[in-house]
Amino acid sequence: MLLRHTPTEIQERKALMINPAKTCQPIGAMYAALGIQGCLPHSHGSQGCCAYHRSTLTRHYKEPISAATSSFTEGASVFGGQANLLQSIDNIFTVYEPEVIAVHTTCLSETIGDDLPQIFHKAQKDKKIPEGKTVIGAPTPSYVGSHVTGFANMVKAMAALAEPGTTKNGKINIIPGWVEPADMEELKRLAALMAIEINMFPDTSGVLDGPLTGKYAMFPKAGATIKQIKASGGGIGTIALGEWCSAEAARLIDTKCKVPCSVLDMPFGLKATDRFIDVLRTVAGTSVPDEIAIERGKLVDLISDMHQYFYGKKVALVGDPDQIIAMTEFLVSIDMLPVHIVTGTPGKKFEARIKEITAEMNAEVNVKAAGDMFLLHQWIKNEPVDLIIGNTYCKYIARDEDLPFVRWGFPILDRQGHQHFPTVGYRGGLRILEKILGVLLDRKDRDDPEEIFELVL
Ligand code: SF4
Repeated sequence: MLLRHTPTEIQERKALMINPAKTCQPIGAMYAALGIQGCLPHSHGSQGCCAYHRSTLTRHYKEPISAATSSFTEGASVFGGQANLLQSIDNIFTVYEPEVIAVHTTCLSETIGDDLPQIFHKAQKDKKIPEGKTVIGAPTPSYVGSHVTGFANMVKAMAALAEPGTTKNGKINIIPGWVEPADMEELKRLAALMAIEINMFPDTSGVLDGPLTGKYAMFPKAGATIKQIKASGGGIGTIALGEWCSAEAARLIDTKCKVPCSVLDMPFGLKATDRFIDVLRTVAGTSVPDEIAIERGKLVDLISDMHQYFYGKKVALVGDPDQIIAMTEFLVSIDMLPVHIVTGTPGKKFEARIKEITAEMNAEVNVKAAGDMFLLHQWIKNEPVDLIIGNTYCKYIARDEDLPFVRWGFPILDRQGHQHFPTVGYRGGLRILEKILGVLLDRKDRDDPEEIFELVL
């Protein structure tokens, strides 16, 4: 009963967040940067920030995360961090030889007003950036936004590298948003099944879900190369998955290089995957192969076979807006009732979208962008649910309220598998439903009286 003091009475709070449903911007920027081949993320701030960002990613992805820091001390805090960053760029290229350094700011460097473009210009002028190497940067002050906006800002910095192609290269750019490495692999598999050439960035597949080979590689031979990112300017179209994570980057490529973009929901669940496959098919001018139709059919089959266990079950959801929007739609489509929904990332559009998706649902919905897990717990106390879906921090609420719990989203600190098994696409939909059914039926087996305890469900 770790959260036993959570009161049922809800009071309006304006200046206090309790158990936030988000973490700091640079964590997202660092994750995005790891999706570039040969990239060393760099945290422009104090060592403590960098250690926190690295350890959070390591705990989720169960892989060592390399990143550098400007190592601010009192001097940099007073006089600015330019000297530290110039020295860092010099040291990093000399000692670790990355292809790219992806710099993100922190609360401190933003507060003192460090100007990344100006520092990069000076580094170039002072010949601290070797020929053919790249330095990109994103503003990620953590007193605004969340890890999601940090991710989006770094992806936008990548998109700024896009070079207008004189001729189209025939590829479709896919900006996948903050999904797991296995999800990125799955998106590539679906495109390959349709014989469509894609250019995806960032791409953490093979970087954060790589094999143990016995040999250490500081920069795995995976991720989007700088050449590929630049070539996105010659694509025939861009598909951005998620308004929060990917849309701005796609719009930048559109404006800069005249590559038309489609902003879609992340393809979690049946309908969102249908839309993704349809846009992919339309932009490429191809048709959907039987293999994909069969995968879809399997998902529809599972939904119809097990519908009685989904029907009318109330769900509490917490996570990042792009994921939660698609998950809400998926749950509603199988007649579940997502009744309490929070995301830590601000944005009024989120609430409007959730209300639109749940409009036909036969239940009241509590939704709050920039909500916290304390509020979610209070809602659950006032109106109990049958299931909670969210990141590891939900385990405290699940334990206190004795709720079935599916871990999904970021971060997952106490389980394995999320980085290896996709939840996007039709196959991913099967996995989501398998997880939901697993906990619901375990609960039924636990609670059913002996006279209705069944072997076959
Ligand atoms: S000081 Fe800011 S950037 Fe650094 S860890 Fe804390 S919230 Fe994140």
